[in-house]
Amino acid sequence: MPIDPTQPYDDDNIFAKVLRGELPANRVYEDEWALAFHDIAPQAPVHILVIPKGRYVSWDDFSASAPDAEIAGFARAVGHVARTAGLVEDGYRILYNIGSHGGQEIAHLHAHIFAGRPLGRMVG
Ligand code: IMP
Repeated sequence: MPIDPTQPYDDDNIFAKVLRGELPANRVYEDEWALAFHDIAPQAPVHILVIPKGRYVSWDDFSASAPDAEIAGFARAVGHVARTAGLVEDGYRILYNIGSHGGQEIAHLHAHIFAGRPLGRMVG
């Protein structure tokens, strides 16, 4: 069920529980700004999610209201995860779903990193 990106942040969302350690995740990286873990239902040979530690529903509120240091820290974490996973040579895709038409289902901002096969030029 797609979420409304304008809704207030809900601390009961699945990724908030992952951040607090209340739900398990196959973690691959963590720093001051972000946590990365494998997607539970991978859509490519590599499918990693990177989430900010701050309370943001989607790319919309994050890009509008997060402090510059937090945006930079998160962006660097996404790149670091891709590099350390060895994805740069063959390439990869970063995807943010936002709201209903984007198909966003979990109301905590997450970057999808897809890799491991040619990903095509699809938009949806
Ligand atoms: P969205 O459609 O952009 O919101 O993507 C949500 C993603 O979270 C989907 O790719 C799901 O497979 C993934 N997902 C849902 N629950 C979990 C979980 O508990 N751990 C890891 N990934 C999850």
